[in-house]
Amino acid sequence: MDPYSMCYGGHQFGNWAGQLGDGRAINLGEIINNRNEHWTLQLKGAGATPYSRNADGLAVLRSSIREFLCSEAMHFLGIPTTRALSLVSTGESVVRDMFYDGHPKNEPGAVVCRVSPSFLRFGNFELLTARGETDLLQQLIDFTIRTDFSHMGKPSTTTYLKWFSEVCQTTAEMIVHWMRVGFVHGVMNTDNMSILGLTIDYGPYGWLENFDPDWTPNTTDSHGRRYCYKNQPHIGQWNLLQLANSIYPVINDAAPLQECLNLYNDTFQKGWNEMMAHKLGFTSFEPRTDDRLISELTDILQLVETDMTIFFRNLSRLNITSDKQETTALLSPLLDAYYQPEQLSEEYKIRIGEWLQSYVRRSSREKLSGNDRSDRMNRVNPKYVLRNYIAQLAIDKAEKGDASMVSELLDIFRHPYDEQPENEQFAEKRPEWARNRPGCSMLSCSS
Ligand code: AMP
Ligand code: MG
Repeated sequence: MDPYSMCYGGHQFGNWAGQLGDGRAINLGEIINNRNEHWTLQLKGAGATPYSRNADGLAVLRSSIREFLCSEAMHFLGIPTTRALSLVSTGESVVRDMFYDGHPKNEPGAVVCRVSPSFLRFGNFELLTARGETDLLQQLIDFTIRTDFSHMGKPSTTTYLKWFSEVCQTTAEMIVHWMRVGFVHGVMNTDNMSILGLTIDYGPYGWLENFDPDWTPNTTDSHGRRYCYKNQPHIGQWNLLQLANSIYPVINDAAPLQECLNLYNDTFQKGWNEMMAHKLGFTSFEPRTDDRLISELTDILQLVETDMTIFFRNLSRLNITSDKQETTALLSPLLDAYYQPEQLSEEYKIRIGEWLQSYVRRSSREKLSGNDRSDRMNRVNPKYVLRNYIAQLAIDKAEKGDASMVSELLDIFRHPYDEQPENEQFAEKRPEWARNRPGCSMLSCSS
């Protein structure tokens, strides 16, 4: 082996942060499997690297479990992501001040081995441009195209633009997926953006429980909420703009780069429309009716605490054969999604009742049999997502020496769209005790 760490920079929370680099990631090398795919193996938390700066290069068990479980869960949800191959506890302790509030603690250390065809980030390109190293930048772009975008042919200015355009599209598609399942990355800095459009760097990420577009799990970002759920699509484009700036020196023409950034918007918008239509059980998006249905629904979901995952999952149980049903009947399969179902006001019931009526009318136009409809919907509306409190339960146990729940969860989250009646408890909405508990609703970057 000839292990190495990578040098990259990045824009953090909107500002250029200079050189960062793999401070605690060590690439062991690359494996070519029997399908001729190449995979890089990378240890995270195995100790200091040349880019560790003042930090220790280590990772704690809690954040390693979170990365291990979530990256696998994302893969089985059908979302592009780096994978996790193994998780080991090191037996050593690591000092961390979880909320940066002067309460450092010894915590158990761990190492995750993660795998990806490439761990290159937007920040790898940005750093070279910031340093004026245009020759090296071009070499890196050529290398990236030859290695991971070989379908584009020989590197040239045309290929560079094709490549950037593909990065814009895959990034947009990834973020559509995040929005679909309620995933909030938490730290969308450009050093955490994969050139392959993979979800990477699972730190203070979280899942929407009640549908709150302003929510972010990252306490470090609780004032600006730059990386909250609803901002993710826009931030994706902002990050691509930084990437465009950084590859400009090998292209020397802004217009085609701008076109790619516009393509990001189009890809996202189209992807979002289709994704929402599919979540609602429609075979395709019908602009006139569906725009209104979707925007009214996103307003309604915010009026009272409504669990996003359960709401969409249970929508498939609605009886859509008659549009002459009482609100109470229409609403009954959805009651599970409410955090305080007994407190729904009359006004609220009227509003959602009207929405449900229009929804039933729109759905009946699809002419799908009941089973077809729910099968289709259940393939895009997961039953099991790695709710923050669920990961925390596994962490609490593992910190006491029992890692069994980590494997148990791994198995459950390998089939997120299946009913799994024996695991119903892991599909339940967040219990009250978890509402404000650290690790469940609040996380920091101190991983
Ligand atoms: P993140 O916010 O986790 O993406 O990390 C931002 C930067 O800090 C990256 O360059 C990391 O490699 C580095 N970093 C984070 N934690 C550590 C650590 N414990 N030791 C060394 N570097 C770290
Ligand atoms: Mg990072």
